[in-house]
Amino acid sequence: VFEFHSQHGPLPYVPDDVTVVQFLLDSYHPNRPSCHPPMISKWIVDDDTGCGFTHDQVQTRVDGLANAIKARWNIGEDDVVAMFSPNHVDYTITIWAAHRLGAIISPANPSFSVDELVYQLNTTKASLLFAHSSVYKVALEAAKVSGIPADRIVLIDAAQPNGVVDKSLLTIEQLVSEGAKLPLRFTEKKLRSGEGKTKVAFLIFSSGTTGRPKAVAIAHYALIANTLQMAAISRVNDSSVPRSEQRFRPGDVSLLVVPLYHIYGILINLHFQLFAGCTIIITQKFQFTVMLGNISRYRINNLFLVPPMVVMICKHPAVKQFDLSSIRNIMIGAAPLSGELTKQLVNVLPEVSVFQGYGLTETSCSITMGPTDKRIGTLGSAGQILPGIVARIIKADGTFGRHGEQGELVVWTPASALCYSNNEQATKETFVNGWIRTGDEVVIDKNHDVFVVDRLKEIMKVRGFQVAPAELEGHLLDHLYVTDVCVVGVPDEFNGEVPMAFVVPSSKAKQLIKTGPQGVSEVKKAICKHVSDAKVAYKHLAGGVEFVDSIPKNPSGKLLRRFMRDQAKVLKEQQAKK
Ligand code: AMP
Repeated sequence: VFEFHSQHGPLPYVPDDVTVVQFLLDSYHPNRPSCHPPMISKWIVDDDTGCGFTHDQVQTRVDGLANAIKARWNIGEDDVVAMFSPNHVDYTITIWAAHRLGAIISPANPSFSVDELVYQLNTTKASLLFAHSSVYKVALEAAKVSGIPADRIVLIDAAQPNGVVDKSLLTIEQLVSEGAKLPLRFTEKKLRSGEGKTKVAFLIFSSGTTGRPKAVAIAHYALIANTLQMAAISRVNDSSVPRSEQRFRPGDVSLLVVPLYHIYGILINLHFQLFAGCTIIITQKFQFTVMLGNISRYRINNLFLVPPMVVMICKHPAVKQFDLSSIRNIMIGAAPLSGELTKQLVNVLPEVSVFQGYGLTETSCSITMGPTDKRIGTLGSAGQILPGIVARIIKADGTFGRHGEQGELVVWTPASALCYSNNEQATKETFVNGWIRTGDEVVIDKNHDVFVVDRLKEIMKVRGFQVAPAELEGHLLDHLYVTDVCVVGVPDEFNGEVPMAFVVPSSKAKQLIKTGPQGVSEVKKAICKHVSDAKVAYKHLAGGVEFVDSIPKNPSGKLLRRFMRDQAKVLKEQQAKK
Protein backbone atom coordinates (compact mmCIF):
# COMPACT_ATOMS: atom_id res chain seq x y z
CA VAL A 1 0.00 0.00 0.00
CA PHE A 2 1.33 3.45 -0.88
CA GLU A 3 -0.34 6.36 0.87
CA PHE A 4 -0.08 10.12 0.75
CA HIS A 5 -0.31 12.15 3.94
CA SER A 6 -0.80 15.82 4.57
CA GLN A 7 2.27 18.04 4.69
CA HIS A 8 0.41 20.52 6.83
CA GLY A 9 0.61 19.10 10.30
CA PRO A 10 -1.65 16.75 12.23
CA LEU A 11 -5.42 16.93 12.42
CA PRO A 12 -6.35 19.47 15.10
CA TYR A 13 -8.56 18.38 17.98
CA VAL A 14 -12.09 17.90 16.63
CA PRO A 15 -14.88 17.90 19.24
CA ASP A 16 -17.31 15.01 18.74
CA ASP A 17 -19.88 16.04 21.32
CA VAL A 18 -21.18 19.32 19.91
CA THR A 19 -23.48 20.24 17.07
CA VAL A 20 -22.45 22.68 14.37
CA VAL A 21 -24.45 25.47 15.95
CA GLN A 22 -22.92 24.86 19.38
CA PHE A 23 -19.46 24.79 17.81
CA LEU A 24 -19.92 28.08 15.97
CA LEU A 25 -22.22 30.04 18.20
CA ASP A 26 -21.68 28.83 21.73
CA SER A 27 -18.41 27.05 22.34
CA TYR A 28 -14.76 27.88 22.15
CA HIS A 29 -12.11 25.98 20.21
CA PRO A 30 -8.38 26.62 20.69
CA ASN A 31 -7.89 27.21 16.95
CA ARG A 32 -10.55 29.87 16.82
CA PRO A 33 -9.42 33.48 16.85
CA SER A 34 -10.07 34.76 20.36
CA CYS A 35 -10.22 38.36 19.26
CA HIS A 36 -13.45 37.98 17.40
CA PRO A 37 -14.63 41.34 16.08
CA PRO A 38 -17.92 39.98 14.72
CA MET A 39 -18.97 39.51 18.36
CA ILE A 40 -19.55 43.23 18.38
CA SER A 41 -19.91 44.17 14.73
CA LYS A 42 -22.17 42.45 12.19
CA TRP A 43 -21.48 38.80 11.51
CA ILE A 44 -23.76 38.07 8.58
CA VAL A 45 -25.01 40.89 6.38
CA ASP A 46 -27.46 41.15 3.49
CA ASP A 47 -25.57 42.73 0.58
CA ASP A 48 -28.54 44.61 -0.79
CA THR A 49 -29.77 46.40 2.34
CA GLY A 50 -26.58 46.30 4.41
CA CYS A 51 -28.74 44.99 7.28
CA GLY A 52 -27.45 42.07 9.22
CA PHE A 53 -26.98 40.49 12.58
CA THR A 54 -24.30 40.59 15.23
CA HIS A 55 -23.24 37.36 16.88
CA ASP A 56 -25.67 38.03 19.77
CA GLN A 57 -28.51 38.82 17.42
CA VAL A 58 -27.87 35.57 15.53
CA GLN A 59 -28.11 33.70 18.81
CA THR A 60 -31.41 35.36 19.80
CA ARG A 61 -32.86 34.80 16.34
CA VAL A 62 -31.83 31.15 16.19
CA ASP A 63 -33.34 30.44 19.61
CA GLY A 64 -36.56 32.31 18.81
CA LEU A 65 -37.03 30.41 15.57
CA ALA A 66 -36.20 27.05 17.19
CA ASN A 67 -38.72 27.73 19.94
CA ALA A 68 -41.48 28.62 17.47
CA ILE A 69 -41.00 25.64 15.16
CA LYS A 70 -40.92 23.32 18.14
CA ALA A 71 -44.09 24.85 19.58
CA ARG A 72 -46.00 24.91 16.28
CA TRP A 73 -44.98 21.64 14.67
CA ASN A 74 -43.03 19.75 17.29
CA ILE A 75 -40.02 19.55 14.97
CA GLY A 76 -37.28 17.59 16.67
CA GLU A 77 -34.89 14.68 16.49
CA ASP A 78 -34.06 13.74 12.88
CA ASP A 79 -37.04 15.53 11.34
CA VAL A 80 -36.04 16.88 7.95
CA VAL A 81 -36.41 20.59 7.27
CA ALA A 82 -36.06 21.48 3.59
CA MET A 83 -34.77 24.81 2.30
CA PHE A 84 -35.82 26.14 -1.08
CA SER A 85 -34.32 29.56 -1.34
CA PRO A 86 -31.56 31.61 -2.88
CA ASN A 87 -28.94 32.83 -0.42
CA HIS A 88 -30.37 34.88 2.41
CA VAL A 89 -29.20 36.02 5.86
CA ASP A 90 -31.91 33.90 7.47
CA TYR A 91 -30.68 30.77 5.67
CA THR A 92 -28.05 30.52 8.37
CA ILE A 93 -30.57 31.19 11.12
CA THR A 94 -32.86 28.42 9.83
CA ILE A 95 -30.04 25.87 9.62
CA TRP A 96 -28.95 26.54 13.15
CA ALA A 97 -32.48 26.66 14.58
CA ALA A 98 -33.12 23.21 13.10
CA HIS A 99 -29.82 21.96 14.51
CA ARG A 100 -30.73 23.25 17.97
CA LEU A 101 -33.69 20.85 17.82
CA GLY A 102 -31.71 17.89 16.52
CA ALA A 103 -33.38 18.21 13.11
CA ILE A 104 -31.70 17.79 9.73
CA ILE A 105 -31.43 20.41 6.98
CA SER A 106 -31.87 19.49 3.33
CA PRO A 107 -31.15 22.42 1.01
CA ALA A 108 -32.51 22.47 -2.56
CA ASN A 109 -31.63 24.55 -5.60
CA PRO A 110 -34.23 27.38 -5.78
CA SER A 111 -34.24 27.12 -9.59
CA PHE A 112 -35.58 23.57 -9.44
CA SER A 113 -38.77 22.70 -11.25
CA VAL A 114 -41.69 21.28 -9.28
CA ASP A 115 -40.66 17.72 -10.21
CA GLU A 116 -37.07 18.24 -9.17
CA LEU A 117 -38.14 19.64 -5.81
CA VAL A 118 -40.67 16.86 -5.29
CA TYR A 119 -37.91 14.32 -5.87
CA GLN A 120 -35.83 15.92 -3.12
CA LEU A 121 -38.73 16.36 -0.68
CA ASN A 122 -39.82 12.76 -1.16
CA THR A 123 -36.33 11.29 -0.98
CA THR A 124 -35.63 13.05 2.30
CA LYS A 125 -39.19 12.79 3.70
CA ALA A 126 -39.08 16.46 4.60
CA SER A 127 -41.83 17.63 6.94
CA LEU A 128 -41.27 21.40 6.99
CA LEU A 129 -40.27 23.68 4.12
CA PHE A 130 -38.62 27.10 4.23
CA ALA A 131 -39.06 28.86 0.89
CA HIS A 132 -38.22 32.25 -0.59
CA SER A 133 -41.08 34.40 -1.89
CA SER A 134 -39.58 34.37 -5.41
CA VAL A 135 -40.06 30.58 -5.64
CA TYR A 136 -43.04 30.19 -3.34
CA LYS A 137 -45.37 28.96 -6.06
CA VAL A 138 -43.07 26.09 -7.02
CA ALA A 139 -42.63 25.29 -3.33
CA LEU A 140 -46.38 25.23 -2.81
CA GLU A 141 -47.02 22.91 -5.75
CA ALA A 142 -44.19 20.57 -4.80
CA ALA A 143 -45.29 20.51 -1.18
CA LYS A 144 -48.78 19.53 -2.25
CA VAL A 145 -47.46 16.59 -4.29
CA SER A 146 -45.18 15.53 -1.43
CA GLY A 147 -47.91 15.74 1.17
CA ILE A 148 -46.52 18.72 3.08
CA PRO A 149 -49.46 20.90 4.17
CA ALA A 150 -49.39 24.50 2.92
CA ASP A 151 -49.23 25.80 6.49
CA ARG A 152 -45.90 24.06 6.88
CA ILE A 153 -44.26 26.36 4.36
CA VAL A 154 -42.46 29.30 5.93
CA LEU A 155 -41.32 32.28 3.89
CA ILE A 156 -37.69 33.01 4.44
CA ASP A 157 -38.12 36.65 3.43
CA ALA A 158 -40.88 39.12 4.17
CA ALA A 159 -41.97 39.82 0.56
CA GLN A 160 -45.43 38.78 -0.61
CA PRO A 161 -44.99 36.17 -3.37
CA ASN A 162 -46.09 37.36 -6.82
CA GLY A 163 -49.62 36.41 -7.73
CA VAL A 164 -50.35 34.86 -4.33
CA VAL A 165 -53.44 36.28 -2.64
CA ASP A 166 -53.10 34.50 0.68
CA LYS A 167 -51.95 37.24 3.05
CA SER A 168 -51.59 34.91 6.00
CA LEU A 169 -48.35 33.28 4.89
CA LEU A 170 -45.95 32.67 7.70
CA THR A 171 -42.56 34.34 7.67
CA ILE A 172 -39.40 33.68 9.62
CA GLU A 173 -39.70 37.17 11.05
CA GLN A 174 -43.08 36.28 12.56
CA LEU A 175 -41.82 32.98 13.93
CA VAL A 176 -38.78 34.60 15.50
CA SER A 177 -40.89 37.08 17.43
CA GLU A 178 -43.50 34.44 18.25
CA GLY A 179 -40.76 32.16 19.58
CA ALA A 180 -39.23 34.96 21.64
CA LYS A 181 -42.57 35.61 23.39
CA LEU A 182 -43.43 31.99 24.11
CA PRO A 183 -42.12 30.20 27.18
CA LEU A 184 -39.20 27.96 26.30
CA ARG A 185 -40.63 24.91 24.55
CA PHE A 186 -37.52 23.18 23.39
CA THR A 187 -34.67 21.38 25.02
CA GLU A 188 -31.55 21.90 23.03
CA LYS A 189 -30.16 18.78 21.36
CA LYS A 190 -27.04 17.85 23.31
CA LEU A 191 -24.70 15.18 22.05
CA ARG A 192 -23.09 12.42 24.05
CA SER A 193 -19.35 11.96 23.66
CA GLY A 194 -18.76 10.57 20.14
CA GLU A 195 -22.35 11.13 19.03
CA GLY A 196 -21.32 13.99 16.73
CA LYS A 197 -19.83 11.40 14.41
CA THR A 198 -23.18 9.85 13.61
CA LYS A 199 -25.69 12.62 14.27
CA VAL A 200 -26.81 13.83 10.85
CA ALA A 201 -26.78 17.60 10.27
CA PHE A 202 -27.44 17.81 6.52
CA LEU A 203 -28.84 15.83 3.63
CA ILE A 204 -27.21 17.37 0.56
CA PHE A 205 -27.72 15.97 -2.91
CA SER A 206 -24.99 14.47 -5.06
CA SER A 207 -25.02 11.77 -7.71
CA GLY A 208 -21.80 10.15 -6.55
CA THR A 209 -20.13 7.90 -9.06
CA THR A 210 -23.25 6.74 -10.85
CA GLY A 211 -27.04 7.11 -11.09
CA ARG A 212 -29.49 9.77 -10.00
CA PRO A 213 -28.89 12.38 -7.30
CA LYS A 214 -28.83 10.90 -3.81
CA ALA A 215 -29.10 12.42 -0.35
CA VAL A 216 -25.64 12.49 1.21
CA ALA A 217 -25.91 12.22 5.01
CA ILE A 218 -23.38 14.53 6.64
CA ALA A 219 -22.76 14.45 10.37
CA HIS A 220 -22.07 17.44 12.62
CA TYR A 221 -18.57 16.12 13.37
CA ALA A 222 -17.72 15.96 9.65
CA LEU A 223 -18.53 19.64 9.15
CA ILE A 224 -16.59 20.65 12.22
CA ALA A 225 -13.65 18.49 11.17
CA ASN A 226 -13.49 20.02 7.70
CA THR A 227 -13.77 23.53 9.13
CA LEU A 228 -10.78 22.80 11.36
CA GLN A 229 -8.83 21.15 8.54
CA MET A 230 -9.26 24.22 6.36
CA ALA A 231 -8.42 26.50 9.27
CA ALA A 232 -5.20 24.55 9.83
CA ILE A 233 -3.95 24.73 6.23
CA SER A 234 -4.93 28.41 6.06
CA ARG A 235 -3.03 29.14 9.31
CA VAL A 236 -6.12 30.67 10.90
CA ASN A 237 -5.16 31.90 14.38
CA ASP A 238 -1.73 30.30 14.04
CA SER A 239 0.57 32.27 16.31
CA SER A 240 3.63 30.45 14.99
CA VAL A 241 3.47 32.47 11.77
CA PRO A 242 3.20 36.24 11.25
CA ARG A 243 -0.27 37.62 10.65
CA SER A 244 0.65 38.19 7.01
CA GLU A 245 0.89 34.41 6.55
CA GLN A 246 -2.49 33.76 8.11
CA ARG A 247 -4.70 33.56 5.10
CA PHE A 248 -8.03 34.38 6.71
CA ARG A 249 -8.02 36.79 9.63
CA PRO A 250 -10.57 37.92 12.19
CA GLY A 251 -12.15 41.13 11.00
CA ASP A 252 -11.91 40.14 7.33
CA VAL A 253 -14.93 40.66 5.15
CA SER A 254 -15.88 37.74 2.89
CA LEU A 255 -18.41 37.75 0.10
CA LEU A 256 -20.80 34.85 -0.33
CA VAL A 257 -21.99 34.47 -3.92
CA VAL A 258 -21.85 30.71 -4.38
CA PRO A 259 -25.11 28.98 -3.50
CA LEU A 260 -25.84 27.91 0.05
CA TYR A 261 -27.59 24.75 -1.13
CA HIS A 262 -24.19 23.41 -2.23
CA ILE A 263 -21.57 22.19 0.21
CA TYR A 264 -19.11 24.81 -1.13
CA GLY A 265 -21.44 27.59 0.00
CA ILE A 266 -22.55 26.08 3.29
CA LEU A 267 -19.28 24.76 4.51
CA ILE A 268 -16.44 26.80 3.06
CA ASN A 269 -17.98 30.15 2.38
CA LEU A 270 -20.27 30.24 5.41
CA HIS A 271 -19.29 27.98 8.31
CA PHE A 272 -15.53 28.01 7.82
CA GLN A 273 -15.42 31.75 7.23
CA LEU A 274 -17.53 32.39 10.32
CA PHE A 275 -15.15 30.23 12.32
CA ALA A 276 -12.22 32.27 11.00
CA GLY A 277 -13.82 35.41 12.42
CA CYS A 278 -14.87 36.94 9.12
CA THR A 279 -17.99 38.97 8.48
CA ILE A 280 -20.00 37.43 5.66
CA ILE A 281 -21.76 39.60 3.11
CA ILE A 282 -24.52 37.43 1.69
CA THR A 283 -25.56 37.91 -1.92
CA GLN A 284 -28.89 36.50 -2.96
CA LYS A 285 -27.79 35.39 -6.39
CA PHE A 286 -24.67 35.76 -8.49
CA GLN A 287 -24.87 38.79 -10.78
CA PHE A 288 -21.51 39.85 -12.05
CA THR A 289 -21.62 43.64 -11.85
CA VAL A 290 -23.54 43.53 -8.56
CA MET A 291 -20.73 41.37 -7.22
CA LEU A 292 -18.11 43.89 -8.39
CA GLY A 293 -20.10 46.71 -6.76
CA ASN A 294 -20.28 44.75 -3.51
CA ILE A 295 -16.55 44.13 -3.52
CA SER A 296 -15.81 47.83 -3.52
CA ARG A 297 -18.77 48.83 -1.31
CA TYR A 298 -17.94 46.37 1.46
CA ARG A 299 -14.14 46.31 0.92
CA ILE A 300 -14.24 42.54 0.44
CA ASN A 301 -11.06 40.62 1.39
CA ASN A 302 -12.03 37.06 0.53
CA LEU A 303 -13.85 35.74 -2.51
CA PHE A 304 -15.01 32.18 -3.16
CA LEU A 305 -15.73 31.53 -6.81
CA VAL A 306 -16.32 28.86 -9.45
CA PRO A 307 -14.36 28.88 -12.73
CA PRO A 308 -16.99 30.64 -14.92
CA MET A 309 -16.93 33.60 -12.53
CA VAL A 310 -13.18 33.75 -13.05
CA VAL A 311 -13.72 33.80 -16.82
CA MET A 312 -15.92 36.86 -16.32
CA ILE A 313 -13.38 38.64 -14.15
CA CYS A 314 -10.79 38.03 -16.87
CA LYS A 315 -12.95 39.13 -19.79
CA HIS A 316 -15.66 41.53 -18.64
CA PRO A 317 -14.93 45.21 -19.41
CA ALA A 318 -16.79 46.34 -16.24
CA VAL A 319 -13.98 44.97 -14.07
CA LYS A 320 -11.93 48.13 -14.71
CA GLN A 321 -14.67 50.40 -13.40
CA PHE A 322 -14.60 49.04 -9.84
CA ASP A 323 -12.13 49.35 -7.01
CA LEU A 324 -11.15 45.77 -6.29
CA SER A 325 -8.04 46.64 -4.30
CA SER A 326 -9.38 45.23 -1.03
CA ILE A 327 -9.33 41.62 -2.28
CA ARG A 328 -6.60 39.55 -0.68
CA ASN A 329 -7.74 35.99 -1.43
CA ILE A 330 -9.64 34.31 -4.22
CA MET A 331 -10.42 30.66 -3.77
CA ILE A 332 -11.80 28.72 -6.73
CA GLY A 333 -13.55 25.39 -6.33
CA ALA A 334 -16.32 23.01 -7.44
CA ALA A 335 -14.75 22.46 -10.88
CA PRO A 336 -11.25 22.55 -12.36
CA LEU A 337 -9.49 25.86 -12.97
CA SER A 338 -6.89 25.60 -15.73
CA GLY A 339 -3.40 26.98 -15.32
CA GLU A 340 -4.10 29.29 -18.26
CA LEU A 341 -7.14 30.84 -16.59
CA THR A 342 -5.23 31.18 -13.32
CA LYS A 343 -2.55 33.18 -15.17
CA GLN A 344 -5.18 35.44 -16.71
CA LEU A 345 -6.74 36.08 -13.32
CA VAL A 346 -3.37 36.89 -11.79
CA ASN A 347 -2.77 39.37 -14.63
CA VAL A 348 -6.02 41.16 -13.84
CA LEU A 349 -5.52 41.10 -10.05
CA PRO A 350 -1.75 40.87 -9.52
CA GLU A 351 -1.81 41.49 -5.76
CA VAL A 352 -4.29 38.76 -4.93
CA SER A 353 -3.57 35.27 -3.62
CA VAL A 354 -5.25 32.84 -6.02
CA PHE A 355 -5.65 29.19 -5.12
CA GLN A 356 -7.97 26.23 -5.61
CA GLY A 357 -9.88 23.94 -3.33
CA TYR A 358 -11.08 20.50 -4.33
CA GLY A 359 -13.55 18.22 -2.69
CA LEU A 360 -16.88 16.45 -2.88
CA THR A 361 -20.18 16.61 -1.09
CA GLU A 362 -19.27 13.08 0.06
CA THR A 363 -16.06 14.34 1.73
CA SER A 364 -17.94 17.29 3.24
CA CYS A 365 -16.15 19.00 1.77
CA SER A 366 -12.52 19.90 1.03
CA ILE A 367 -9.83 17.32 0.40
CA THR A 368 -7.25 19.79 -0.83
CA MET A 369 -6.56 23.50 -0.70
CA GLY A 370 -3.73 25.68 -1.99
CA PRO A 371 -1.23 26.12 0.86
CA THR A 372 -0.40 29.57 2.22
CA ASP A 373 3.34 29.53 1.55
CA LYS A 374 2.89 30.58 -2.07
CA ARG A 375 0.70 33.52 -3.04
CA ILE A 376 -0.30 31.82 -6.29
CA GLY A 377 -1.00 28.12 -6.05
CA THR A 378 0.89 25.88 -8.47
CA LEU A 379 -0.75 26.46 -11.84
CA GLY A 380 -3.48 23.92 -12.53
CA SER A 381 -3.12 22.30 -9.12
CA ALA A 382 -6.14 21.79 -6.88
CA GLY A 383 -3.89 22.35 -3.85
CA GLN A 384 -2.48 19.96 -1.25
CA ILE A 385 -4.03 17.39 1.04
CA LEU A 386 -5.55 18.77 4.24
CA PRO A 387 -4.40 17.66 7.70
CA GLY A 388 -5.90 14.36 8.81
CA ILE A 389 -6.54 13.07 5.28
CA VAL A 390 -4.87 9.98 3.89
CA ALA A 391 -4.95 9.52 0.14
CA ARG A 392 -4.41 6.54 -2.10
CA ILE A 393 -4.19 6.49 -5.86
CA ILE A 394 -5.55 3.37 -7.51
CA LYS A 395 -4.10 2.93 -10.98
CA ALA A 396 -5.99 1.38 -13.90
CA ASP A 397 -4.30 -1.99 -13.21
CA GLY A 398 -5.52 -1.92 -9.60
CA THR A 399 -2.11 -1.23 -8.03
CA PHE A 400 -1.23 1.78 -5.87
CA GLY A 401 0.09 4.88 -7.59
CA ARG A 402 3.05 6.87 -6.28
CA HIS A 403 4.09 10.46 -6.87
CA GLY A 404 3.55 11.40 -10.52
CA GLU A 405 1.31 8.42 -11.30
CA GLN A 406 -2.27 8.78 -12.42
CA GLY A 407 -5.21 6.93 -10.95
CA GLU A 408 -8.44 7.19 -9.02
CA LEU A 409 -8.16 9.12 -5.79
CA VAL A 410 -9.44 7.25 -2.76
CA VAL A 411 -9.36 9.08 0.56
CA TRP A 412 -9.79 8.56 4.26
CA THR A 413 -10.98 11.73 5.95
CA PRO A 414 -12.44 12.58 9.34
CA ALA A 415 -14.94 14.70 7.41
CA SER A 416 -16.35 11.73 5.50
CA ALA A 417 -20.10 11.75 4.97
CA LEU A 418 -21.89 8.80 6.55
CA CYS A 419 -23.71 7.32 3.57
CA TYR A 420 -26.26 7.94 0.87
CA SER A 421 -29.42 8.03 2.89
CA ASN A 422 -31.65 4.98 2.25
CA ASN A 423 -29.44 3.76 -0.57
CA GLU A 424 -27.35 0.85 0.57
CA GLN A 425 -26.15 -0.18 -2.87
CA ALA A 426 -24.76 3.25 -3.81
CA THR A 427 -23.30 3.63 -0.32
CA LYS A 428 -21.41 0.33 -0.69
CA GLU A 429 -19.91 1.44 -4.01
CA THR A 430 -18.58 4.78 -2.79
CA PHE A 431 -17.94 4.36 0.95
CA VAL A 432 -15.66 1.34 1.17
CA ASN A 433 -14.41 0.32 4.64
CA GLY A 434 -14.14 3.92 5.76
CA TRP A 435 -12.51 5.06 2.52
CA ILE A 436 -14.21 7.18 -0.12
CA ARG A 437 -13.87 6.53 -3.82
CA THR A 438 -13.84 10.00 -5.36
CA GLY A 439 -14.38 8.93 -8.97
CA ASP A 440 -11.75 11.51 -9.91
CA GLU A 441 -8.46 10.74 -11.58
CA VAL A 442 -5.58 12.61 -10.07
CA VAL A 443 -1.82 12.92 -10.06
CA ILE A 444 0.08 13.97 -6.94
CA ASP A 445 3.51 15.32 -7.78
CA LYS A 446 6.74 15.31 -5.77
CA ASN A 447 5.86 18.73 -4.33
CA HIS A 448 2.63 17.26 -2.94
CA ASP A 449 0.45 19.22 -5.36
CA VAL A 450 -2.71 17.41 -6.40
CA PHE A 451 -3.84 17.70 -10.03
CA VAL A 452 -7.35 16.56 -10.92
CA VAL A 453 -6.82 15.31 -14.46
CA ASP A 454 -10.00 13.47 -15.37
CA ARG A 455 -13.30 12.18 -14.05
CA LEU A 456 -14.07 8.47 -14.02
CA LYS A 457 -17.57 8.90 -12.67
CA GLU A 458 -20.61 9.72 -14.74
CA ILE A 459 -21.44 13.20 -13.51
CA MET A 460 -20.58 16.30 -15.43
CA LYS A 461 -20.09 19.69 -13.87
CA VAL A 462 -21.82 22.60 -15.52
CA ARG A 463 -20.68 25.88 -13.95
CA GLY A 464 -19.77 23.86 -10.86
CA PHE A 465 -23.24 22.25 -10.64
CA GLN A 466 -23.55 18.49 -10.84
CA VAL A 467 -25.55 17.05 -13.69
CA ALA A 468 -26.34 13.34 -13.49
CA PRO A 469 -26.61 11.75 -16.96
CA ALA A 470 -28.85 9.03 -15.49
CA GLU A 471 -31.41 11.65 -14.45
CA LEU A 472 -31.56 13.15 -17.95
CA GLU A 473 -31.52 9.76 -19.66
CA GLY A 474 -34.45 8.56 -17.54
CA HIS A 475 -36.37 11.68 -18.45
CA LEU A 476 -35.49 11.52 -22.17
CA LEU A 477 -36.57 7.89 -22.44
CA ASP A 478 -40.10 9.09 -21.66
CA HIS A 479 -40.18 11.04 -24.93
CA LEU A 480 -41.86 9.46 -27.92
CA TYR A 481 -38.95 10.35 -30.22
CA VAL A 482 -36.40 8.50 -28.07
CA THR A 483 -35.71 4.75 -28.18
CA ASP A 484 -32.37 4.82 -26.40
CA VAL A 485 -30.11 7.60 -25.16
CA CYS A 486 -26.75 8.37 -23.63
CA VAL A 487 -25.99 11.77 -22.11
CA VAL A 488 -22.40 12.94 -21.78
CA GLY A 489 -20.61 16.20 -21.00
CA VAL A 490 -18.82 18.09 -23.75
CA PRO A 491 -16.18 20.72 -22.99
CA ASP A 492 -17.37 24.32 -22.98
CA GLU A 493 -15.17 27.35 -22.42
CA PHE A 494 -17.50 29.21 -20.09
CA ASN A 495 -19.49 26.44 -18.40
CA GLY A 496 -16.69 23.90 -18.14
CA GLU A 497 -18.95 21.23 -19.61
CA VAL A 498 -22.48 21.11 -21.02
CA PRO A 499 -24.77 18.09 -21.50
CA MET A 500 -25.13 16.54 -24.92
CA ALA A 501 -27.43 13.63 -25.82
CA PHE A 502 -26.74 10.76 -28.23
CA VAL A 503 -30.20 9.60 -29.21
CA VAL A 504 -31.41 6.49 -31.00
CA PRO A 505 -34.53 7.89 -32.65
CA SER A 506 -37.85 6.07 -32.42
CA SER A 507 -39.64 5.03 -35.61
CA LYS A 508 -41.87 8.08 -35.30
CA ALA A 509 -38.80 10.33 -35.10
CA LYS A 510 -37.21 8.49 -38.01
CA GLN A 511 -40.17 9.31 -40.24
CA LEU A 512 -39.65 13.01 -39.55
CA ILE A 513 -35.88 12.80 -39.88
CA LYS A 514 -36.32 11.24 -43.35
CA THR A 515 -38.17 14.32 -44.56
CA GLY A 516 -34.94 16.36 -44.49
CA PRO A 517 -33.16 19.05 -42.46
CA GLN A 518 -36.38 20.59 -41.24
CA GLY A 519 -37.56 17.28 -39.84
CA VAL A 520 -34.19 16.69 -38.20
CA SER A 521 -34.32 20.09 -36.57
CA GLU A 522 -37.91 19.54 -35.43
CA VAL A 523 -37.01 16.29 -33.68
CA LYS A 524 -33.91 17.77 -32.04
CA LYS A 525 -35.83 20.81 -30.85
CA ALA A 526 -38.59 18.66 -29.37
CA ILE A 527 -36.05 16.55 -27.49
CA CYS A 528 -34.26 19.63 -26.11
CA LYS A 529 -37.58 21.19 -25.14
CA HIS A 530 -38.57 18.04 -23.27
CA VAL A 531 -35.57 18.66 -21.00
CA SER A 532 -35.85 22.44 -20.77
CA ASP A 533 -39.54 22.21 -19.83
CA ALA A 534 -38.81 20.00 -16.84
CA LYS A 535 -35.31 20.72 -15.62
CA VAL A 536 -33.30 23.57 -14.15
CA ALA A 537 -31.32 25.58 -16.75
CA TYR A 538 -27.87 24.07 -16.24
CA LYS A 539 -29.26 20.61 -17.08
CA HIS A 540 -30.52 21.71 -20.52
CA LEU A 541 -28.97 20.03 -23.57
CA ALA A 542 -26.75 22.98 -24.47
CA GLY A 543 -24.34 20.54 -26.14
CA GLY A 544 -27.13 19.51 -28.55
CA VAL A 545 -28.53 16.21 -29.76
CA GLU A 546 -26.82 13.74 -32.10
CA PHE A 547 -28.59 10.78 -33.69
CA VAL A 548 -26.96 7.36 -33.60
CA ASP A 549 -28.07 3.86 -34.65
CA SER A 550 -27.34 2.33 -31.27
CA ILE A 551 -25.73 3.11 -27.93
CA PRO A 552 -22.71 0.88 -27.36
CA LYS A 553 -22.95 -1.24 -24.21
CA ASN A 554 -20.77 -3.82 -22.51
CA PRO A 555 -21.94 -7.45 -22.28
CA SER A 556 -23.79 -6.75 -19.02
CA GLY A 557 -25.74 -3.93 -20.67
CA LYS A 558 -23.85 -1.01 -19.11
CA LEU A 559 -23.47 2.07 -21.31
CA LEU A 560 -19.96 2.65 -22.61
CA ARG A 561 -20.13 6.21 -21.44
CA ARG A 562 -16.47 7.05 -21.56
CA PHE A 563 -16.31 5.90 -25.17
CA MET A 564 -19.33 8.07 -25.99
CA ARG A 565 -17.80 11.01 -24.15
CA ASP A 566 -14.66 10.71 -26.28
CA GLN A 567 -16.82 10.45 -29.42
CA ALA A 568 -18.66 13.60 -28.41
CA LYS A 569 -15.43 15.46 -27.87
CA VAL A 570 -14.16 14.52 -31.35
CA LEU A 571 -17.50 15.48 -32.87
CA LYS A 572 -17.47 18.89 -31.22
CA GLU A 573 -13.89 19.51 -32.34
CA GLN A 574 -14.86 18.65 -35.90
CA GLN A 575 -17.91 20.92 -35.72
CA ALA A 576 -15.78 23.77 -34.34
CA LYS A 577 -13.33 23.44 -37.25
CA LYS A 578 -16.12 23.68 -39.86
P1 AMP B 1 -19.75 18.21 -5.63
O1 AMP B 1 -20.12 17.05 -4.80
O2 AMP B 1 -20.92 18.84 -6.31
O3 AMP B 1 -18.92 19.19 -4.91
O4 AMP B 1 -18.86 17.65 -6.81
C1 AMP B 1 -17.63 17.03 -6.57
C2 AMP B 1 -16.86 16.89 -7.82
O5 AMP B 1 -16.57 18.17 -8.40
C3 AMP B 1 -15.51 16.26 -7.63
O6 AMP B 1 -15.57 14.85 -7.53
C4 AMP B 1 -14.75 16.73 -8.85
O7 AMP B 1 -15.07 15.92 -9.96
C5 AMP B 1 -15.31 18.13 -9.06
N1 AMP B 1 -14.44 19.17 -8.48
C6 AMP B 1 -14.64 19.87 -7.36
N2 AMP B 1 -13.63 20.74 -7.15
C7 AMP B 1 -12.75 20.58 -8.16
C8 AMP B 1 -11.48 21.16 -8.51
N3 AMP B 1 -10.93 22.14 -7.82
N4 AMP B 1 -10.87 20.69 -9.62
C9 AMP B 1 -11.41 19.70 -10.36
N5 AMP B 1 -12.60 19.13 -10.09
C10 AMP B 1 -13.26 19.55 -9.00
